[in-house]
Amino acid sequence: MITLTGGQGTDWLKQLAASGEGESPLGCMQCGLCAASCPLGDAMEYPPRSLILRASSGQLERILASPSLWLCVSCYTCSKRCPRGIELSDGLWPALRDRAMQEGFQPPAELQETFQNVFKYGNTLGKSPRQRLDWAKDLEVRVLDLSKEPRPVEVLWLVGCYPSYYPRNQVVTRAFARILTELGVTWGVLGAKEKAIGECDRMFGEEGLFESLVEENRKLLDRQEFEKIVVLDPHAFRALQNFYPRFGAWYPVEHYTTFLAERMGQLQPLVVKPVEARVNYHDNCCAGRRCGCYDLPRSLLGLIPGLTTVEMSRNRDNALCCGGGGMWLDAHIVAHGGRRLSDERVRQAAETGADTLAVSCPYELSRFEDAAKVAGLEERLKVRDIIELLAESMDLGERSVV
Ligand code: SF4
Ligand code: SF4
Repeated sequence: MITLTGGQGTDWLKQLAASGEGESPLGCMQCGLCAASCPLGDAMEYPPRSLILRASSGQLERILASPSLWLCVSCYTCSKRCPRGIELSDGLWPALRDRAMQEGFQPPAELQETFQNVFKYGNTLGKSPRQRLDWAKDLEVRVLDLSKEPRPVEVLWLVGCYPSYYPRNQVVTRAFARILTELGVTWGVLGAKEKAIGECDRMFGEEGLFESLVEENRKLLDRQEFEKIVVLDPHAFRALQNFYPRFGAWYPVEHYTTFLAERMGQLQPLVVKPVEARVNYHDNCCAGRRCGCYDLPRSLLGLIPGLTTVEMSRNRDNALCCGGGGMWLDAHIVAHGGRRLSDERVRQAAETGADTLAVSCPYELSRFEDAAKVAGLEERLKVRDIIELLAESMDLGERSVV
């Protein structure tokens, strides 16, 4: 799909156009809106506008060899702003990175390690598949492992790598299990059989690895009977909705914010305990800019008694990325003159007087908590997933470990 094995200059760009990723880059009018809106454009040797100019003038090799190729965090701002509808973030950048690796240019070490983890262990953290269900140990609600006990369910929950393994995220994962159960939904997970969806691999040019994950996941999912898939990770949502169907792997899928917002009537009488918090919601780049899901997360927060919301000046389409799409590139970005966007985002949140930064993407919890520490804001600004806030108001036990 995005793997373009040969060609130079405009030929290569024509191949990309034919792959169906947005409008043809050959229509670029060099207006520079993409580069001007890129949060890391200043640090890039080749910002998006320049990528097209250089590629079309036969300088592909220079782009492929540049550290600049690994500075983009896939925030989708350039694609959103391009008046010609050119798909930079999800088209041009992954294709260039894929080509770079084919030509023997190695990605930054952290990203290589992530690819290897996914290849060897099926998850980005390099953990044993046997530990996939560790989050559910001693949980008081039943977690049905459909890979061992297949049966028809309403919801097949693909838990995701960070929510399965990362201790801070496991708090949210357990809370979601309780909420699903409280709502009376029949649900199950794939336990040790679950594998990464592969969106980070696709975004960062490992198209071959992504395609093999699609195939493995397709086999797993085709064995199950379910009404819909629910995911906590908006990157996984985006991949399942947009990229899996290109390989014949189509499944009804919802991000958890949509799933819960569809059940607002059921949630309303359960969300009773006041949560005294002044909350910013951070629009993540996948559910937000890519999929236009801005109101549903805010509606869920609006259900919670005692909670008030306040907006950052950069919100919705214009929200600053947390850098989490490129979280494996932090060290590389800083080493090449860029900055961690999460550090800037927590300062923007604190400026509003909020005491809580609410998120709906598993990557953001640890990123923002770390950024709050770096900025000396950890006493003033808590980072909590919307699930945690709902669970607290529903009096569903375990609280955040912040
Ligand atoms: S915004 Fe679109 S048309 Fe303008 S320079 Fe960037 S890619 Fe070209
Ligand atoms: S996706 Fe975001 S970080 Fe990457 S080039 Fe576009 S605006 Fe810059």
